Amino acid sequence: MTRRRTKKSRPSTPIATAVPTRCPRCGSTNRDPYHNTRRLDTTGTLPCGSVYSAVIWRRTRCHDCGQTRIDKTWIFRDADNSTKKTRKKSRK
Ligand SMILES: [Zn+2]
Repeated sequence: MTRRRTKKSRPSTPIATAVPTRCPRCGSTNRDPYHNTRRLDTTGTLPCGSVYSAVIWRRTRCHDCGQTRIDKTWIFRDADNSTKKTRKKSRK
């Protein structure tokens, strides 16, 4: 008798998906590791409505055609301030 699920099992890790950046020349998502990462702490709002708290630029190179590019990403911290979900957990 093997019990696969015990009551104190670790919570399952959620999976977050993202669309990878693509090479502007050949469209490949194969790239070299990032380097020369720059970060700028600033706040703003994207056209989709997401509020970001930092912007990050990372240099990389296409693995297929050799085109260098800079991937620009944002750091979101929506969970910290905007969304206030009511947690009704009884504290005893
Ligand atoms: Zn390419």
